[in-house]
Amino acid sequence: MICNEEIKERVRMEDAVRFYLPGEEFRYGRIRCPFHGGEHFNCAIYSASFFCFSCKAHGDVISFVEKLMGVEYLEACKMLDRDFRLGLNIGEPVTLAEMVAMDKKLQALKAVRKKENRERMQLEDEYDAALRDFATLDIIITHGDPESSEYAAALRKHPLAKYRFEEAEGRLLEFERGSEARG
Ligand SMILES: [Zn+2]
Repeated sequence: MICNEEIKERVRMEDAVRFYLPGEEFRYGRIRCPFHGGEHFNCAIYSASFFCFSCKAHGDVISFVEKLMGVEYLEACKMLDRDFRLGLNIGEPVTLAEMVAMDKKLQALKAVRKKENRERMQLEDEYDAALRDFATLDIIITHGDPESSEYAAALRKHPLAKYRFEEAEGRLLEFERGSEARG
């Protein structure tokens, strides 16, 4: 019994990154890619997956551990079970009753997640849009020509974009904290 679905439901990508890459710096939800070893923050960490915009490494929390630790799928599942105290006893024989109980638990968990997902996607979209606006203005202000009208406009729009970005980020974080408490 591997219980890979339950692992993916219960271990968030970000928690796995913080556990297996302690001290790793996050910037706008991205880290320096541990797979191609780049200097830039290319590897996006989503709630249930990761994607490197440079080397295209991607996957879920189990494949993250597989790649990072250089272990097989089953071993990665065992590591996550052990390190996050999931109590799944992977690889050990289970009784039918245990299997039924596990499945029931998983279905309940999935129902909660499904409801949350729609809201999360909406918040993530808002966050992405706000981040894009803010980052675009930031680039103009940092690298643009101070004499240009584009620069002046960016300077004017910057505080509101920053405010909107921080608001969107706050809503997303609050949601994540709420779902953490519920789940
Ligand atoms: Zn990469």
